[in-house]
Amino acid sequence: MIYTINSTNDKGLERIFKESMRDLKKFYELNWVDHIPRVIVVPNRKTIDLLRGMKTEPWLLGWADGRMVYILDSMNFEKESNHKYNSARYYSLLKHELSHAFYHIISHGQYIPVWLCEGVAIYTAGQIKEKTRPTKFKEFLKFQKEGGKGVYSESGFAVELLVKKFGKQKLLKLIKGLKENKSRSEFEKWFKTIYKFKPTYKEFNRLYLE
Ligand SMILES: [Zn+2]
Repeated sequence: MIYTINSTNDKGLERIFKESMRDLKKFYELNWVDHIPRVIVVPNRKTIDLLRGMKTEPWLLGWADGRMVYILDSMNFEKESNHKYNSARYYSLLKHELSHAFYHIISHGQYIPVWLCEGVAIYTAGQIKEKTRPTKFKEFLKFQKEGGKGVYSESGFAVELLVKKFGKQKLLKLIKGLKENKSRSEFEKWFKTIYKFKPTYKEFNRLYLE
């Protein structure tokens, strides 16, 4: 499929982009200067489906593919999705997708486990403020190789817990080692090397509720 593309002079999006890049460079400790991410504003669901090569769910608003970041046009936001539009949410949507682009670099393209990849994007985009805090963790670990709507409810809080209890450096180390620890058992071992416990609901809830 062939597409046409135009540059746009959207001052609002430029500002979100600049501020998000500043925050994410700091978080990921990555001074990304050359070949910085490109943001593509996609006009409607039909084009999203064509670009993704599948019928997408109405909750999907954006995605990242390496340094290319795609988001649904704010003008068609409510018409083309099942989300209510507000400017703060649109801000964090772009920041979330840009965060995936940074994650892609430090993880060397690894996005498994999905809960970690999404959790870090949600946490760094500040989207946990928009979410209901879970009373306990009971579903994020289901999202290993595949995502889904449910991955967005707990994973950001799980990552927040890791950062608050153990600091950011351990999290960055965990992400940087994903490439050498691809299988579930290798990941669990790698996680345990860093955090001294296995990634289970029992351990996460013990820390969360203490
Ligand atoms: Zn995401």
